[in-house]
Amino acid sequence: FDMFFLAFVERLFRPTFKKDDFVLGKKLGEGAFGVVYRASLTKKPSSKKEGDFVLKKATEYGAVEIWMNERVRRACANSCAVFVHGFLESSSKKGAEYWLLWRYEGEATLYDFMRSKEFPYNVETMILGEVQVMPKGLERENRIIQTIMRQLLFALDGLHSTGIVHRDFKPQNIIFSEGSRTFKIIDLGAAADLRVGINYIPKEFLLDPRYAAPEQYIMSTQTPSAPSAPVATALSPVLWQMNLPDRFDIYSAGLIFLQMAFPGLRSDSGLIQFNRQLKRCDYDLIAWRKSVETRASSDLRRGFELLDLDGGIGWELLTLMVRYKAGQRISAKGALAHPYFDREGLLVLSFMQ
Ligand code: ADP
Ligand code: MG
Repeated sequence: FDMFFLAFVERLFRPTFKKDDFVLGKKLGEGAFGVVYRASLTKKPSSKKEGDFVLKKATEYGAVEIWMNERVRRACANSCAVFVHGFLESSSKKGAEYWLLWRYEGEATLYDFMRSKEFPYNVETMILGEVQVMPKGLERENRIIQTIMRQLLFALDGLHSTGIVHRDFKPQNIIFSEGSRTFKIIDLGAAADLRVGINYIPKEFLLDPRYAAPEQYIMSTQTPSAPSAPVATALSPVLWQMNLPDRFDIYSAGLIFLQMAFPGLRSDSGLIQFNRQLKRCDYDLIAWRKSVETRASSDLRRGFELLDLDGGIGWELLTLMVRYKAGQRISAKGALAHPYFDREGLLVLSFMQ
C-alpha cells in the first residue's frame, strides 16, 4: 500500500504533459518499436534551441517501458536518464501510441565516443576536465577505462538491486550525462522487472546478438503472450537467486570492457568475429587468449598489455564477467568491490589537486 500511495502522491505533484505541449526537433533514433526525437516545450521556449527533452513515440510495447522508467525513477534514479513523463496518446489513428519523455542528457552515447580514434581520451576530458597529470599511454588509458567501467557497474548495480534486468546493455544504450558528468543507462524497452514479474519481450524482438550472453533464449521463454497486459508471472526473489538473470547484463558489460581495451573489437565486424572465436573456445576467455596471443597483432597485444597492468587485475575482472555460466559470473556489486577499482580514488584525488 505504502509504495503505491507514495507513487500516487508523487505523480500528483509532478508536472504532466500532453502532445500539444511539445515541438519536435531532430530525430535521434528509429527502431522497430518507436521513433526518438529531441523536443522542446511550446509554451516555455527553452534556453537550448534544440530542446531540453527527448521524446520516444512507441508502439503498444511503450506501456512496459513506461512502467520500467517509473520504477527506476523512484528506486534508482541515478542509474538512468531522468524520466519526465509517459502517457498514452489515444488520438492517434495508428492505434495505441505511447509518448515517453526524458530530460535531454547530452549529445553522445558511449558508442559515439568509442567510434572516435581519440577514445578513451575524448571521454577523459568529459569526465575529468582538461587537467592532465600523466603522459598519454597505457596507464592513463587504463585509468579512464576504469572510471567508465565503474560508472557502468554502478548504474547496473542500481538497476539490479531494484530487481530490473536491462537485457539490451550496449554502448548505444549508454548516454553521457553532461550535467552529472557520468554515463547513464537508457532504453528500458527490453528490460524485465523480476520482482513484480513484468518480463515481456515481443516475439519479433531479438536481443542484440552482438552483446547477448549465451543463455539469451532462456529468459524469453517466460514471456507472456499479450503485449498490452504485462502479466505477473510470480517470479520471486528466490527465483532471482536461482537463475541470476542480472548476470545477463554482466556478460554484456564484460564485452564492452573488452571493446574498450581492444580497438579492433569496437567495430561490428570485429565484435562478431570475436564472438565466433569465443564460441569456438567454448566461451573460455583464457582459452581464447591462448589461441590468439601467439599470432596476435600489435593491436591485440596492446590490449592484453593494458589489461595486464597492476598485476593483471583488469584481466582478472574481465574473466569474472565473460563466462559461459551465468552463476559463475560476478555480480555488479561484486565487480565494484573488485581490487581493479582500488587505485581509482587515488587517481581522482591527484587530478583534483
Ligand atoms: P531505440 O529504441 O531507438 O534504441 P533509445 O531509447 O535507445 O531508443 O534512444 C535512441 C537514441 O536517442 C539513443 O541512442 C541516444 O542517442 C538518444 N537518446 C535517448 N535518450 C536520450 C536522453 N535522455 N538524452 C539524450 N539522448 C538520448
Ligand atoms: Mg536503443
